[in-house]
Formats: sequence, C-alpha cells, structure tokens
Amino acid sequence: MLIDFHVHAFPDKVAEKAIPVLSQCSGGVVPSYDGKIDSLKSHMRKNGVDYAVVLNIATNPHQQKKVNDFAISLLGDEMLIPFGSVHPDSIDAISELERLAAAGIKGIKLHPDYQNFYVDEARMLPIYRKIAELGMITVFHAGTDIGYPKPVHCTPQRLLKILDSFGNAPVIAAHFGGYMLWEDVMQFLCGTQVYFDTAFSYGKIPPDFAKKIILSHDAKRILLGSDMPWSTPTDEVRLIRSLQLNETVTNAILFNNAKRLLSI
Ligand SMILES: [Zn+2]
Repeated sequence: MLIDFHVHAFPDKVAEKAIPVLSQCSGGVVPSYDGKIDSLKSHMRKNGVDYAVVLNIATNPHQQKKVNDFAISLLGDEMLIPFGSVHPDSIDAISELERLAAAGIKGIKLHPDYQNFYVDEARMLPIYRKIAELGMITVFHAGTDIGYPKPVHCTPQRLLKILDSFGNAPVIAAHFGGYMLWEDVMQFLCGTQVYFDTAFSYGKIPPDFAKKIILSHDAKRILLGSDMPWSTPTDEVRLIRSLQLNETVTNAILFNNAKRLLSI
C-alpha cells in the first residue's frame, strides 16, 4: 500500500491555466501530470498509490470559498482525501474553518510564502487555535519555495514557536521540515511533535541527511508525500527505500502513519 500525503490537483479549467504558469515560476520543473483529477487518479492507479491527500491553497481571500468548494466536491472519492485552505486576510477565515470541518474536511493547507504571512505572526494564532479546537490536520509549506523569492516565511525556528498553539491537532511541515533548511530542521524540529512529509525531496535532499532526520526525529512522524505534479510518488518512494530502513519503519513512512492520521 502507498499513501501520498502531498499532491496538487485543480478543477480542469484551472489546471489548464495554472500548471504552465506554476511550472514557469519554478524555473521550468516539468509537471508529471496535467493537474486534472482524472489524470491524477490514473497516474495513481498506474503507480500503485492507493490514497492521496489533495492539498488546495487559497492564494488570495477572494479565492478561498471557490478553492474550498472544490475541496468539498472531492469528498467521498474512493482515492482522494481533499484538504481545504483559509487565507489569513479573509474576514471569514474562522467561519470557513467551521464550514470545512462540518462538511467533513480533515485538514488545512497553509502556504506562508504564497499567502504572505510569517508562520509565527500573532494574527495567525486565532486561526491555529480554531484548527486545534476542530481537531483538524495542518500542512505547512516549510522552508524555501523554489518558485518564490526570499525571505522564507516558514523556517524551522519560526515554526517551533507556534507548534503549541495547535494543542494535540497534528501539524505537518512539508519537505522534510523545511526545504533546503535541513540543518535547522535537525536543530529546531527533530524530537518535537511535528510531522514531516517527504515531498519534492528525491534528488534534492542528500539521502544521508534524510536518514539522519528520520532517525533523530521519530519514524512515526514521517509521511510519504510527492508534491505531484512537481515530483512523483515513484521517485519519493525510491528515496525512502534507498535509505535501507527496516521494514516496519519503511511501511510506517509509506502508509501506516498516514492511515493512522487520516483514520483509514
Ligand atoms: Zn506542494
């Protein structure tokens, strides 16, 4: 079994416009599929991926409802687990979280670079506390974004400061805790309650370092993620398998941890 905790997909018409733009912004990363739901599912079937968490991002306050309506429309799919998103500048952010939870959405994606906030800003605390109260999962883009100029809005140091505001609600820092900031991940996040996903890491993170992070953190808190269409689950599984962890740990990363978090 494989569960991919980090994929991106769009409504068909949006995908046609968004994928070429996003590809260009990221310096020409070649997308592994066209961003449409049907294509995602056939890619998953071909590559043995049983479930995927679809991470939607509200990149401005006006988009928030539309993005979340799309997420809600995916509920009930036999392969996809949609997450919603709120924008910090939206006056409806708190009630939108309630709407998402009531609909059955299990988690929220926040992208501090695209949504223009530092992860430890005080104005975010009511949002974090609401997520905690609703018991939802949060996925943060963490570390450098290859399509976005500096400063980095979610560094390991900043993330550490706000982890407690989520109470027992799970928080996931994408890209092994902070893309390209893995020394800081080791220093500030390893050993805390945060989860890491493996998205967009194959060929980027030195494998020795990936192994060091997994072993000094907690293998129960590492989740397979690809970042489709910007990488593929096949490549990210290849990275995990190359680390030669024991079978229990490997299976925990590839699906068991996600199963537990998502109650599937
Ligand atoms: Zn992503």
